[in-house]
Amino acid sequence: MMSPIIVGQGLAGSLLAWEFLQRGIIPTVYDPYASTTSSRIAAGVINPLIGKRKLQLSWNAERLLPAALHTFRRMEDELGVPILRTPPILRIFATPELREQWKGMQGGKDVSWLRVDDVPDGTYHGIDVPHGGILVHDAAIVDFGAVIDGVRARLHAHGAVHAHRYSGGAAHATVIWCEGWTMAQHPLWNWIPMEPVKGEVLDVRISTLDAQQIVVGECAIVPMPEGTFRIGSTYDWDDLTELPTASAREALLYQCGKVVHDAVEVLDHRAAVRPAARSKRPFVGVHPEHPDHAVFNGLGTKGGLVGPFYAHQLVRHLLDGAPIDEDVDIQQWWTS
Ligand SMILES: Cc1cc2nc3c(=O)[nH]c(=O)nc-3n(C[C@H](O)[C@H](O)[C@H](O)COP(=O)(O)OP(=O)(O)OC[C@H]3O[C@@H](n4cnc5c(N)ncnc54)[C@H](O)[C@@H]3O)c2cc1C
Repeated sequence: MMSPIIVGQGLAGSLLAWEFLQRGIIPTVYDPYASTTSSRIAAGVINPLIGKRKLQLSWNAERLLPAALHTFRRMEDELGVPILRTPPILRIFATPELREQWKGMQGGKDVSWLRVDDVPDGTYHGIDVPHGGILVHDAAIVDFGAVIDGVRARLHAHGAVHAHRYSGGAAHATVIWCEGWTMAQHPLWNWIPMEPVKGEVLDVRISTLDAQQIVVGECAIVPMPEGTFRIGSTYDWDDLTELPTASAREALLYQCGKVVHDAVEVLDHRAAVRPAARSKRPFVGVHPEHPDHAVFNGLGTKGGLVGPFYAHQLVRHLLDGAPIDEDVDIQQWWTS
């Protein structure tokens, strides 16, 4: 295969570029490298147990989690930058029903592989857990910014980075589109059912909060390397701008206040649009009518968990002809 072109170097484009580099191929990458993108503002939490009102295992987590940890650890080693932290998640039960539901799930083989400790009612390291909770040890925080910067530096050393938008041309190579949510407007890909969703986060200082775990209740409170916390996030399907809103700030501080009673100092407030899929599955594959164009997108709310496995799968498909899983292959959406 000739050296491919990757359009967009957020988390998706970075993971794909990384997989090509692992195979000795240097892709050419285009991205304007804006400071506020989905990948740049994400807290980077990998959480295998999801659901606000009903706990459930994240789709395919048993297969995706080991692949994600393996990839990010390897990147950290080879790029020589800190990328992965593995604190547990304190999942707070909002209601007694949730605690009962967890008890019912506990014996099932779906979750038997997860390392989880029960947290009794009361307080846990100063955090209110009136209906108890669990400590999920199979969790992680990935610094997506460090992934992007690390891969960019590696590509830059080969002169393979163009720090501006791709506008076509020079396409005697395969072009792989990783443009994030704006794919929904791209004439080549607008038949794929993207459902972009805006999210907002606050970076805050809470001097009294223990930074040994990620807290997930009504919102997530994520310890950041600088000693601050990132609180997130909100969901808005109508306003697809990158403008932070007063209502989201208020909602996040209200949710945080239910768990933490100390002063919260807001340092930063940002918004971006997630490239989410209506099917809640990523978009992977080659265009049915334009075989020189492929796509890797739709990482949605879980880029850290989902991205590494399918970036690997797409590169194996392009280089070795290995199959793409049917439930993520974009061929399923093609009708004409
Ligand atoms: C508030 C918020 C919180 C989140 N929290 C988490 C979390 O805790 N854990 C988790 O796993 N995920 C989280 N996510 C989701 C995560 O951010 C995404 O799954 C992932 O980062 C998407 O990566 P991407 O590369 O597909 O898209 P993007 O990050 O949007 O990157 C796309 C890139 O393509 C570039 N681009 C677009 N068009 C062109 C063009 N024509 N030429 C060149 N470049 C182009 C853009 O500039 C951009 O850099 C969160 C998202 C948000 C918004």
